[in-house]
Amino acid sequence: MSEAKILDGKALARRLNDELRVRVAAFTARRRAPKLCVLRVGDDPASAVYVRNKANTAATVGIDGEVLHWPSATHADVLAQVQRWNADDGVDGILVQLPLPKGIDAQAILDAIDPSKDVDGFHAENAGLLSQGRPGIVACTPKGVMRLIAEARGELSGLHAVVVGRSNIVGKPQSMLLLNADCTVTVCHSRTRDLAAIVGQGDIVVAAVGRAEIVRGEWIKPGAIVIDVGMNRVGDKLVGDVEFAAAARRASAITPVPGGVGPMTIAMLLDNALTCAERR
Ligand code: NDP
Repeated sequence: MSEAKILDGKALARRLNDELRVRVAAFTARRRAPKLCVLRVGDDPASAVYVRNKANTAATVGIDGEVLHWPSATHADVLAQVQRWNADDGVDGILVQLPLPKGIDAQAILDAIDPSKDVDGFHAENAGLLSQGRPGIVACTPKGVMRLIAEARGELSGLHAVVVGRSNIVGKPQSMLLLNADCTVTVCHSRTRDLAAIVGQGDIVVAAVGRAEIVRGEWIKPGAIVIDVGMNRVGDKLVGDVEFAAAARRASAITPVPGGVGPMTIAMLLDNALTCAERR
């Protein structure tokens, strides 16, 4: 088997951001620049990097940003800020960076975001619309994964997609998107028996676990498309959930870590911000 095609998320995200810049300029000429507001609470170092990348990239495509960083806050503080942004007609998108510190009920905060400004697509209304195959705001990471898969193969109908992970922000919405694309979908999680055998059936494998190289290269069905959402710090290196080199020898296409899913998540976030602005 020849080496897999590397699905370059960085290059694809750059292309999509270039397209988005044109759409944002057209929208801005008609109305005003779309505005994305981001709240970060606490001092999680990874969150600091993510928020900085989101804000910087937003600026490059012409989306206005307001970023608040509070070293600490109560649940009531965060809720009040979300409500202020909900009520502000000049705000198109609201993002509360997760994880939130202890004492803040993240689910309640996400529930409080106006679904029409829910750029992350985590609100129950948007999750529900997705599960019914209706238009809404789709969670950024799974949406970006679908774009990456499209780079490898156009028609997905009838393919067996195996999603490893069932979180509300990645695994579940991912499985819905693949189902909506007419895949046969298997969702694996921590209680799954014989993960190797199930992954081995996947024409598409999406790994979203958060455990370095849990998906072994030898499990991969020859010719499969492998998407690695995982980001794990191992020493000073960032490692995915897939054993990359071995998987690349069997897969037809695979995403690297870093430079695969990560940049696509930001591109889809900005796409969602414009969509929110256009719909409102
Ligand atoms: P969560 O911790 O919320 O979910 C992890 C999932 O993996 C759970 O469903 C869990 O199962 C499952 N799991 C845990 N252990 C096993 C196992 N041994 N076998 C099979 N499944 C297992 O993580 P997230 O979904 O938020 O994130 C997953 C990874 O993706 C992380 O590395 C995260 O950093 C990364 N990520 C990357 C993004 C990007 O932009 N590149 C964006 C978001 C996340 P159970 O439900 O049973 O507990």
